[in-house]
This record gives sequence, structure tokens and C-alpha cells, in this order.
Amino acid sequence: MARTDILYIGTNTKMYMNIYQTVDFLTKLHELTKDISRDQIKLFVNPSYTALAAARKSVPKESITIGAQNMCWEKQGQFTGEISPLMLKEVGVEIVQIGHGERRTIFKETDEEENRKVLCALKHGLTPLLCIGETREQKEKKIADEILRIQLKIGLNQVTPEQSKKVLIAYEPLWAIGVEGTPASKEYADERHKVIKEALVEIFGKTYGKDIPVLYGGSVNNQNAAELISMPHIDGLYIGRSAWDAENFNKIIRLVLPIFIKRRKTRETGAML
Ligand code: PEP
Repeated sequence: MARTDILYIGTNTKMYMNIYQTVDFLTKLHELTKDISRDQIKLFVNPSYTALAAARKSVPKESITIGAQNMCWEKQGQFTGEISPLMLKEVGVEIVQIGHGERRTIFKETDEEENRKVLCALKHGLTPLLCIGETREQKEKKIADEILRIQLKIGLNQVTPEQSKKVLIAYEPLWAIGVEGTPASKEYADERHKVIKEALVEIFGKTYGKDIPVLYGGSVNNQNAAELISMPHIDGLYIGRSAWDAENFNKIIRLVLPIFIKRRKTRETGAML
């Protein structure tokens, strides 16, 4: 089964939930979704560092994959305040989000730094979820596609086609994420996803590039989730606020999964004809 045949759906809890709240959220989410076959979805949650160990212990790893929100590009050394990939692995983390829009804008992380983190994550067996996206200004100047291609080409520099089998991409336009964000229209998001997928094929070749899941993130909610996932180039959803209530997250999952499965079946039938 191709990776893009599975619905990737996850959330980043940003700097909101403490340990108790994270465990409570995960326990509820697991209970609410345990009847859904994990052959169909890859459900993941990226909590704060302090909650990672308890998060991992609170639910089965086959049910919910735990990710970190960031990490250092070295495994150890004089990097006060940083977290090593080995430390993440020690507590059972499997995914690491790299280059979230807030890291890039508030903490001024560069594409070169994201690249070092991607390479380090892969070297240590973690799945990097590389977040890319244009600013509002870049969108208005109509250079979004160029920006996305640069972020991919630098962020994934020196990643081999074989290693790309572990990579995940999240397209999160900066103007669309968070409380000030306005969601991208399904057409706009799909056009950018198409550009991203073409760039991935250019970087890794058709076989590998086509199978890298590209998730959309940015003000996904109960109103737009279904139409976003019905678009041909959107492989999954990366959700913030609307997913932080387990019941609502469960509702969104159940809303989008049948649409995703139908889309996959149509694709399979098309390929056979
Ligand atoms: C995010 O910050 O990555 C995000 C997708 O948030 P929201 O869904 O709240 O816009």
C-alpha cells in the first residue's frame, strides 16, 4: 500500500496543553477513534516536550503516533536549551515537526537550519514532518510557488530518495494558521499542493516523489475539512485549534475519512482502466 493511500491526520498542540491536559486529550481521542482501522488512517499528535513521555504511555502507539514540535540538528553537545533526537526517541517519539511557520517567523529559523534538522531526524530514525508555506506578502506578490519550491529544495537538500520514504510535508500558508489566520480556499490549497508534489518528483524522481504525503494545515475546521480532503492533491490534514477538543477532532476524522477512501477507490479504478 502506498503511503498516500493512508489518511494522515494530526495535530500540533503548540504551547497550550500541560501534561494532565495532554494525557486527558489523548485518552479521549483513543477511546473515540479506536474502532477506526489504523490501516486507513495515521493519527498523530505533537504535544509539548514536557508532556511527551506521559503522552506516549497514555495510549497504544498503534493507535496514536506521538510527535515532537521541534528538535536540535545535533544529537548532543553544547546546545543549552535544545532537545536531541536521541532524547525524543528515548521517550517513544516517532515524528518530529520541523520548520513550523511560528518557528520560521518568531524564532527566525532558516531553510538551512530546517535542512540540518531534517537530515538529523532521518539519521536517527525519526520521521520529519517538514512544514512549508508562504507569507501573506509573498502570496500577494504572487511568488508563493517559488517560495515553496525553495523551501523544499533547501529543506530536503541531501535527503536521498530512499530516505524520502520517511518524509512528510505539511503545506501551511502562514496567513492561514492560528487565530489571525484565514483558511485557504480548497482551489488555492490544491494548486499549491500540486506545485509541491511536482517539486517532490523533481527532487526524488517519480516513484519516490509521488508517494510523499502532503498535508494541508491552516484554519482547518468542521466547515472546510471535507472540501479540502476531496481535492486530488491533498493527502491529509494537519490541524490546530479545531482538533484540540477530542470530540471535535473525532468528528472531523469521521467526516473526512469516507471522502478520502472514496477518492482513493476512484483513483484505483482510474489506474486500472
Ligand atoms: C498550525 O498552527 O499549524 C495550525 C494548523 O493551526 P490552526 O489549525 O489553528 O490554524
